[in-house]
Amino acid sequence: MEWGDQVYVIDCGPDFRQQMLGSDTLRLDGLLFTHYHADHTAGLDDVRSFSLRQGYVEAYADAEVIANLKERFGYIFATRDRYAGAPNLRITEFENRPFMLSNKTVTPVQVMHGSTRVFGFRIDDFAYITDAKHVSPSEMEKLANLDVLVVNALRIEPHPTHFNLEEALEFIEQLRPKRAYLTHISHRLGFHAKVSEDLPKNVFLAYDGLSLTV
Ligand SMILES: [Zn+2]
Ligand SMILES: [Zn+2]
Repeated sequence: MEWGDQVYVIDCGPDFRQQMLGSDTLRLDGLLFTHYHADHTAGLDDVRSFSLRQGYVEAYADAEVIANLKERFGYIFATRDRYAGAPNLRITEFENRPFMLSNKTVTPVQVMHGSTRVFGFRIDDFAYITDAKHVSPSEMEKLANLDVLVVNALRIEPHPTHFNLEEALEFIEQLRPKRAYLTHISHRLGFHAKVSEDLPKNVFLAYDGLSLTV
């Protein structure tokens, strides 16, 4: 996400390096974590490319994610005999209440992913929700009147911890954003062009490298 001279990234999956190279990202003001699963955190070592240039990278996560990252990436958080080339993060813990990211307010939106708590984020009229399976009515209220909603849709068949296509479309239908983009798509959703044919007019399949202006 970019505004002014600020650049933020939500999550840091295994292809973080490839995505940063592909988008010519030269600085990183902060990382926001949705949850600790490997497909959202496994690229953390490559943050060093930014922290070596900038001195450090800010990161925002809830207490559970911070504890989990400390287990997964002990060397990054080591306080003694720390390797100088390790990524340097400055972590800020957030809870389920709005916080500031430079001059913008970020509203965390708590969703459930099986028994795992995941945070989506709303900034102005843009919201990014991933790995959701259940969203409570009070959290849904935070997502009213969006211009752009990005939401997960894993596949056609139901899944115990992810929205399938039908559930994602139902979620979109309830929220009525101006536009919605489906993400966290597996190969079991089907071919891009074929699936796109049957989507409502304001719903699109996202893809690697897609860029949106809100
Ligand atoms: Zn997950
Ligand atoms: Zn995931």
